[in-house]
Amino acid sequence: MPASRPDAPPEPPVLVLFRNDLRLADNAALNAAVKTGRPVLPVFVFDDGADGGRPPGGARRWWLHHALERLCASLSERGAGLILRRGPTLATVLSLLDDTKANAVFWNRRYDPAGISADSALKTALRDRAVEATSFDGQLLHEPSRLTTTTGGPYKVYSPFWRALVSSGEPRAPVAAPKAIRPLHEAVASDTLEAWSLLPTAPDWAGGLRDTWTPGEAGARQRLADFLDARLERYAESRDRPAEAVTSRLSPHLAHGEITPFQIWHALARPDIEAGARDLEKFRKEIAWREFSYHLLFHNRDLASKNVNRDFDDFAWRPDAGLVAAWQQGRTGYPIVDAGMRQLWRTGWMHNRVRMVAASFLTKHLLQHWREGEAWFWDTLVDADPASNPASWQWVAGSGADAAPYFRIFNPVLQGEKFDPDGVYVRKFVPELARLPDRYIHKPWEAPADVLSHAGVKLGTTYPVTIVEHRKARTAALAAYDAMKGTR
Ligand code: FAD
Repeated sequence: MPASRPDAPPEPPVLVLFRNDLRLADNAALNAAVKTGRPVLPVFVFDDGADGGRPPGGARRWWLHHALERLCASLSERGAGLILRRGPTLATVLSLLDDTKANAVFWNRRYDPAGISADSALKTALRDRAVEATSFDGQLLHEPSRLTTTTGGPYKVYSPFWRALVSSGEPRAPVAAPKAIRPLHEAVASDTLEAWSLLPTAPDWAGGLRDTWTPGEAGARQRLADFLDARLERYAESRDRPAEAVTSRLSPHLAHGEITPFQIWHALARPDIEAGARDLEKFRKEIAWREFSYHLLFHNRDLASKNVNRDFDDFAWRPDAGLVAAWQQGRTGYPIVDAGMRQLWRTGWMHNRVRMVAASFLTKHLLQHWREGEAWFWDTLVDADPASNPASWQWVAGSGADAAPYFRIFNPVLQGEKFDPDGVYVRKFVPELARLPDRYIHKPWEAPADVLSHAGVKLGTTYPVTIVEHRKARTAALAAYDAMKGTR
């Protein structure tokens, strides 16, 4: 590291902006800043919706608080601090330039539409002021605009997108975390984390989140290691079974940028990985769904608010706050749906198979707009993602790109029996049904009175009666779909 002469003017620092990239390893912006040999000032800029995007929901705010604590600790181990600033990105960075006399700003790119606009405005404003402004990759394996069809347009279907992704070359190797960071010695004003009030106050609903997750880069690394060692080898076979917990649970770490898809992709190629080719491909394909979601978001800025398939603008949703509340609270009377919604509320996460069933139930059985469900997930998921959440909701609802056909309506009983055959998952999250025999665990209403009584279940009292009857709901949903098609 070059030492400056005592009488030399202080060397201007390089600002490194942290947003949804709360890590030191494979952090291209930080790495490039350290390589300049100049003092580096890491700043977390919390736009909190001020750039025009969506402010994080409650579960992500909880995560962010803890992730920032850990990031701050890791930076100080390497000699640097973390400045916290809140506000629109451009104004915040300009005031930091005034405070620090920095003449370079580095950051890793964001890919939500508001983030893209804010960061390109930032780049222009900085360059106009002769401040070096450089952005780097890290969040996605491929820039969402890079993969195009043979005619140069965006992909609308996943399979050809996947083929294009795998044939476009091996993703770059991840870079190691810097060993030391040259700090800026002048004091720079910083908010305190506590002042941001990211944690819930009374009631404290975060107990289940604390029991389930370790936010931060080390937690992400550990999750990946556990997954590669113990679960990946069963991934292809068991990833749809919510009780088996074989999926990686890396989603909240990816959403906060505590790990990059490059790190994951390259870890899968390690020679000591015991998983079979099928497991590896299946898992890579899921990582690619995340890439596809960002591709869709890039080409559909309003993915969270507008139907990709505009035919659905005429769909006759039947808004009903009572039905939405029963679904949110896991009181629909369908055990697999209720287990999923309670897993979400308790832990901030829900298994993918159950997300599909619960989302299908809301949009098809209850005929509630997918936006209701998307918004609830946005608030309650620790992995709430501006691309994957709306893309998945639209996929399930039938209004999205490459969507599941609307007439495919999951039967929640059959889904439960197929993917949670012993009812282990339901018993965990719906304990009032725990003593029911397996054959009734997904349809308690079919259990004879003595079986219910023996299991301590009183339908309508200890556990809700079904809020809609499957067959009738299915017929109503198909009729609404036919009516929509009829209007075209
Ligand atoms: P794994 O099976 O271990 O997969 C590894 C990674 O691949 C995940 O961490 C995730 O980044 C990515 N991935 C896996 N499946 C998908 C998918 N279908 N679409 C996009 N990426 C995927 N995922 C989110 O990350 N954020 C969301 O807000 C989100 N909302 C969803 C809403 C609905 C209605 C549905 C049906 C799915 C949603 N998903 C979302 C996708 C998926 O459910 C989660 O990514 C997955 O359950 C995360 O668990 P995991 O890390 O154990 O996944």
